[in-house]
Amino acid sequence: STVNFALVGLGSLSTNQLAPALQKTKHAKLVGIVTGTPKKEKTWADKYGIQKQNIYNYETYDKIRDNEDIDVVYIVLPNGMHAEYTVRAAEAGKHVLCEKPMANSSEECRQMIAACDQNNRKLAIGYRCQFEPHHQQCIELARSEKFGSLKAVEAGFGFTIGDPNQWRLDAKLAGGGALMDVGVYALQACRYLTGEEPQSITAQETKTDPKKFAEVDETITWTMKMPSGVNCFCATSYAFRGVNRYHAYADKGWFGLDPAFSYGGLRGQTSEGAIEAPEVDQFAAEIDAFAKCILEDRESSVAGEEGLRDLLAVEAIYESIQSGRRVDL
Ligand code: NAD
Repeated sequence: STVNFALVGLGSLSTNQLAPALQKTKHAKLVGIVTGTPKKEKTWADKYGIQKQNIYNYETYDKIRDNEDIDVVYIVLPNGMHAEYTVRAAEAGKHVLCEKPMANSSEECRQMIAACDQNNRKLAIGYRCQFEPHHQQCIELARSEKFGSLKAVEAGFGFTIGDPNQWRLDAKLAGGGALMDVGVYALQACRYLTGEEPQSITAQETKTDPKKFAEVDETITWTMKMPSGVNCFCATSYAFRGVNRYHAYADKGWFGLDPAFSYGGLRGQTSEGAIEAPEVDQFAAEIDAFAKCILEDRESSVAGEEGLRDLLAVEAIYESIQSGRRVDL
């Protein structure tokens, strides 16, 4: 059987990745949309066969409550809107898949988790990499200690951001800059490679364009120490491109991906040779995994708690930048 999804926010990711992915999923189907742009209603209805009664806007959003055709609401709005729209979806009796970063703060993450719990709905975060075979092989290499015990992880993700007027540069809508948008991939990688939560964090920020980045961070480098002693050194930026990788160093060898966080074309290397893994649609894999959780009544491996843990680390990174000190968690 199939789980029926509605996409909320028909911007770039919904248009170019999620809707196409939902045509490839085995257990999930795109049946509904929520959009504030009337002309998208017709384009999407024609392209994806969305029925009129499954088309909503931001005024009618809560009426999804009365629609039995929709099982899951997939939140693809600016970060600062994730919490409100997740809570409202849960209160409308719908399961929620919410894009990364989960929300602007750990406080908001807790509200989202509580709303889904109270309404007995499942919540998952759009951490596509955890469903991608190259990443899964690296996680397995770390767990099996094939190259010995992990000692250090180096991870970074950045790009040069364009349009100075976009929501990603607005603190209220984005919650932060490069760290919130793409730094979370590096943070996630350190967490899933080590299987640990950071014990202490130090961070510093660089701003070369204080006008463009008046509200959000431009470039951040940070280190994290894990309880087992693994050291992580990370970078994220909106000001330079080319950093899209991780490298894990163990006492008998190393492994890593570069590029690591693109939608396809990932390449992996180890101290013994290349990592061979199939190319998959990461979004279809992530959506199908959540659909299966719903069909089998299981918790998602990327549930709200996973997003919360990232936000706790993100807040510690910002706190360390503010204080100029190491933050112990
Ligand atoms: P986008 O700007 O292309 O789309 C955002 C959509 O939200 C637009 O359709 C816009 O009209 C709508 N919207 C509604 N209210 C808005 C408001 N007040 N201000 C601005 N826009 C508003 O952004 P996107 O790249 O599609 O990103 C959406 C979400 O998906 C973000 O949370 C982002 O972090 C996440 N994302 C995840 C990945 C991934 O690989 N998992 C990739 C890109 C984006």
